[in-house]
Amino acid sequence: MRIVLLGPPGAGKGTQAKTISETLAVIHVASGDLLRENQNKGTELGEMARGYMQKGLLVPDDVIIGMIQDRISNPDATNGYVLDGFPRTLEQASSLDAALSSQNQHIDKVLNIKVSDSELIVRLSGRWICRDCQRPYHETNSKPKKQGMCDECNGELYQREDDTSDAVSKRIQVYSNQTAPLIEYYKERGNLVEINGEQSIEDVRKDLLETIS
Ligand code: ADP
Ligand code: ADP
Ligand code: ZN
Repeated sequence: MRIVLLGPPGAGKGTQAKTISETLAVIHVASGDLLRENQNKGTELGEMARGYMQKGLLVPDDVIIGMIQDRISNPDATNGYVLDGFPRTLEQASSLDAALSSQNQHIDKVLNIKVSDSELIVRLSGRWICRDCQRPYHETNSKPKKQGMCDECNGELYQREDDTSDAVSKRIQVYSNQTAPLIEYYKERGNLVEINGEQSIEDVRKDLLETIS
């Protein structure tokens, strides 16, 4: 099963990806997490991406496409994956399709999580993330059991720089201009499902699981 989670920044992709990947026993591939991992390790890729990410702009397509191709050609991806944050441009989507079809594979479902802009801002500005396992929390909507600490792995929680700066509105704008066209792209291919993301985390999860079961 190969799934794409589509939706604006803060829609709940990371929150829901974990449940989906566990349910389907496939890996969760989050492009933003991979980029931040590269930054923490100080790789060339991480360093080149940093400036774009700080400004809320997309990292160039060729860089991202290479990084994701690499990840999904790993043996642990043979059963499938949940893509979270990729593709984000038409160029990324068509290169993914081309790579898959050359191996007689395809994306099974694209789940588009819809949330209004005003709610996105509330979600992003209150988001805290585990430094170790990347699990997202929220200071009011989804609190950790112990303040500042991840329920899953006891890792330290931190706020992303791009969640607390001008980058927030830039990212929402970039989503509308560059990523939203993917909704039409996948609709035409017939595998898009719309999910109302403006419900409780539990209710969104139910809708998603119903769709993929
Ligand atoms: P994305 O990966 O799409 O950017 P996240 O999963 O990181 O989004 O969620 C963004 C923020 O919103 C996090 O702080 C998360 O705890 C919170 N959140 C996620 N889903 C919901 C929901 N259904 N209702 C309220 N808050 C949510
Ligand atoms: P969010 O889910 O909150 O939008 P991500 O962690 O997915 O955040 O992405 C953070 C940043 O990483 C983006 O603003 C962008 O700079 C970069 N990025 C992540 N995925 C991609 C992608 N597919 N193409 C280009 N840039 C990306
Ligand atoms: Zn953790």
